[in-house]
Amino acid sequence: MGDSKRSKVDVAIIGGSAAGHAAANEVARRTERSVLLVHEEPGELYQRTKVSKTFAEHLSTATSFPPTAFTEKLKTTHWDSSRIRCVTGTRAESIDVERRTITLSDDSEYEWGALIVATGARPAYPVFENAVYKDVHFGTSKAEIERLRGDAGRGKQILVVGTGVLGVEVAEQLVKLAADVTLVGRGATLMSHDLNAEVGAQMNALFVANDVSLRMQDEVSLIQKNGEKSAVTFKGDATTHLFDAVVCATGVKPNTELAKVAHLPVNPKGGILVDQKLRVLGQEQIYAAGDVAEHIDRPATHLWRHAKEQGVVAGRNAGGANESYEFAPFRLKTKLFDHYFFSLCRFHHRDRDRFEEVKYSVGRGSMWAYYDKSDTLQGVMMVNDPEREQLYRDLGAHQWKRSHVEAAIKSV
Ligand SMILES: Cc1cc2nc3c(=O)[nH]c(=O)nc-3n(C[C@H](O)[C@H](O)[C@H](O)COP(=O)(O)OP(=O)(O)OC[C@H]3O[C@@H](n4cnc5c(N)ncnc54)[C@H](O)[C@@H]3O)c2cc1C
Repeated sequence: MGDSKRSKVDVAIIGGSAAGHAAANEVARRTERSVLLVHEEPGELYQRTKVSKTFAEHLSTATSFPPTAFTEKLKTTHWDSSRIRCVTGTRAESIDVERRTITLSDDSEYEWGALIVATGARPAYPVFENAVYKDVHFGTSKAEIERLRGDAGRGKQILVVGTGVLGVEVAEQLVKLAADVTLVGRGATLMSHDLNAEVGAQMNALFVANDVSLRMQDEVSLIQKNGEKSAVTFKGDATTHLFDAVVCATGVKPNTELAKVAHLPVNPKGGILVDQKLRVLGQEQIYAAGDVAEHIDRPATHLWRHAKEQGVVAGRNAGGANESYEFAPFRLKTKLFDHYFFSLCRFHHRDRDRFEEVKYSVGRGSMWAYYDKSDTLQGVMMVNDPEREQLYRDLGAHQWKRSHVEAAIKSV
């Protein structure tokens, strides 16, 4: 490689989503250091969480998203271009830890003072017999949703596999595009990881009322190509069903390929191992943040807010600070068929049964509080009371006692 393609930068960041964008902002805001942000998706940086929630409104008449769709919160226009360089549509192909360089897909090479790996997560391919994954959609990026749009529309039969938040959001948007949607999932109710059984049952009823066919406590066993269609067999019945498209919303896994090749420490079933400062274990000047990072003693959340907050801490530390990442409560919100669902909790969904659940009527909706043995609030779930979302955020954040919670709910 000629010297003309080699440059120096103080902080190099790989991946320009929640974590990478927040990290770049932080370095720029607090220091005079130069930043290179490399992002493999083309076009402007965008907020991934918005794609599955609102794609129907953009794609009802168009086949692709307008260039500025979902870019609002990840603007780069205020960045000083003499210090921050944002390169999109370009991949970081390799990291050389010894030489402290990264090589990009345009063959350029950058020597860095500090490196932040924010390569996020990618779909976890489910194991179906005979599946040809190029024929399956995943719905996790703007490009993926545009590809799906080519197969989905009025009267098309679409199967969405997976009933977590991504599956239900994509299904709702496909209904808005007048597709004929089937949802299949292992749980008895939709979003069973995030919502309690009562709210999950309400959501089941909501989807059925909007003409979605539900196959709960069922799963796909086989997918075969049948002309232009996919022939799918479910465990729950022996018949083969034909669909125009199959969307897998069956979870994600950390995108660690680059880190593995660079011999950074990676859990084979998880992410890049980091300490509380988000420093990659055994490395002084390499950080990992967001969905790609695996924290000692902390569950992976795969949530936007955590990725962003980790980006902030990694950016500060790469800029010379020495801060620790404090774990924030899990927070999720979604609006489906005009019903609003919100949850904020300090515990993993698997541990919900360890808390006392109390239901309250609030505004036009309901709220469930989760108290520990000392009557301290550890989690909140709300349906259809969006006007008071800030109250629920405050309740969850401050771990109030039950008497305070009940007084606060009554007073607004
Ligand atoms: C459709 C969808 C909806 C979601 N909705 C919600 C929600 O409502 N609430 C919530 O809290 N969370 C939600 N999430 C999860 C949330 O979006 C993620 O937790 C968050 O985006 C993680 O941010 P990140 O920066 O770690 O990585 P990612 O968003 O995964 O981005 C990483 C980026 O790095 C790029 N990259 C990877 N490798 C390279 C490379 N070698 N070179 C250059 N670039 C590279 C990737 O292309 C990708 O764009 C949703 C996720 C999806 C997919």
